[in-house]
Amino acid sequence: MLKSMQENEISLAHAAVQIVLLSGQDFFRNDEGLVDLLATALVRNADNLAHIDAMVKRWVNTTRETLHPSDVPKLADLTADPPRRVELPAPCEVCKAAGDWPNVVERKGRSAAARCGCARGQKLLAADLERIARPLPAPVEDNQMSIFELLEKVKEQLSAS
Ligand SMILES: [Zn+2]
Repeated sequence: MLKSMQENEISLAHAAVQIVLLSGQDFFRNDEGLVDLLATALVRNADNLAHIDAMVKRWVNTTRETLHPSDVPKLADLTADPPRRVELPAPCEVCKAAGDWPNVVERKGRSAAARCGCARGQKLLAADLERIARPLPAPVEDNQMSIFELLEKVKEQLSAS
């Protein structure tokens, strides 16, 4: 299945396969923009293909809630093998309570994810931004198919087999 695309070290196609698993979670929104953001977050935060699988496996085995793109950086840190060692300042009370997951804040009437303003939160934010700035693998940028189209294709192939 999608063999030629999976030969890329970290591919959006592979993320799409994993998103099929995530689509069984409660409140999963089959929204093109959100699915695209989620797949991109998985690819940007993964060390390799197996890491994407580990992230999705851990999430699905831990909660019925849907995975949001803002959850991915922390999830990536938790599942990295070998583990990532990041020196962080001690957590403030808010960070301690949130366990380093982004805080949900209201912005212009919508929920948004935000990092804490303390030294630890800002260091986590810097790491998030560094990963966002990371270029995607070239084959993904050249790929004319959107992640949403890929996802639909993967689902078709799964239901056919
Ligand atoms: Zn904090």
